[in-house]
Amino acid sequence: MNDRAPRMTPASLVAALVRPEIRTLSAYEVAKAEDMVKLDAMENPYSLPEDAKARLGAALARVPINRYPDGGAEAVRASLRGTLGIGDAWAVLLGNGSDELIQIITATLARPGAVMLAPEPSFVMYRMNALYSGMRYVGVALRSDFSLDITAMLSAIERERPSLVYLAYPNNPTGNLFDERGMVAILKAAPGLVVVDEAYYAFAEASFLPRLYEFANLLVLRTLSKLGMAGLRLGYAVAAPEWIAEFNKMRQPYNVNALTQAAIVALLSDQGWIAEQASAIRAERARLVAALGRLPGVKAFPTQTNFVVARVADAPRVFNGLKERRILVKNLHGWHPLLEHCLRITIGTPAENDRLIAACAELCQ
Ligand code: PMP
Repeated sequence: MNDRAPRMTPASLVAALVRPEIRTLSAYEVAKAEDMVKLDAMENPYSLPEDAKARLGAALARVPINRYPDGGAEAVRASLRGTLGIGDAWAVLLGNGSDELIQIITATLARPGAVMLAPEPSFVMYRMNALYSGMRYVGVALRSDFSLDITAMLSAIERERPSLVYLAYPNNPTGNLFDERGMVAILKAAPGLVVVDEAYYAFAEASFLPRLYEFANLLVLRTLSKLGMAGLRLGYAVAAPEWIAEFNKMRQPYNVNALTQAAIVALLSDQGWIAEQASAIRAERARLVAALGRLPGVKAFPTQTNFVVARVADAPRVFNGLKERRILVKNLHGWHPLLEHCLRITIGTPAENDRLIAACAELCQ
């Protein structure tokens, strides 16, 4: 050993080698929710019906896990195409959750100097992925009622010429559906790709999927996560084959594992349960919004998702009070000035929602 060699420690190496913008980040922490009513992550609260469970078990038992998965996940794509009526004019790309697709799309378009634009507040992973891939991120504030500020969006598009625009439709964390005419104006004005992220489409009354043929720069992004399959991790993107062919080059060859592929095909072969659960969630949503809106000092915002944003007098106090009562929601206070004293509450089962309403009634007197 050479005594005079500078002493290398993992910390000194990290300080010298890791990109500074990554060093200043903290890793995404998932809140612990054991034994709690879990209303923080927009999950579907219902488990699988027994017949779907049986189909799933039989399908998984047949998977040859000694082999790599089908890299193209043909059966899954065929089943999604059939379900959604996606015509041959469009191509489908699958991801390990739509999170992975956001990463792939962003990295593919991150030419030096390229800009990503999104309204704010919106899904935080857009901005995070701009940072990961070295894209310059431009956020445009929503109005105080969470609607798109179209004038500001159009002038930012004109000024920044973004390669990539993300529009969550409906939006997370605000829950509302943006005005369709505003969306179309953005699609027409944008010189780059516009990703319409329809993670919550099952709870909304609108979609841009049928409008793909109108816009060469439109990609529709979706996920099975909010439909009761968050644990499987499957997202999909639908766009013109020219776009998908490029994104496909960035994809890991086996990004969707064999168990997930088999599970999805089995579960989508009879989808009655998916529609039933989504409609139960929509009915509970109406009840929860009405009940929260009746509490003194509480404003429940309109929602077309499986969660509701409520503004209370003191969000940290209500958040902690709920936690003490073993109910976990998301405290949005401090995320963005527009979200002052807001909580994001995922729609649970009727019993869970009853517990939440009773606890909020105690805490918001
Ligand atoms: N887009 C939006 C708007 C979301 O809210 C989420 C999940 N919170 C995602 C994408 C990612 O979903 P997943 O990776 O589970 O498909």
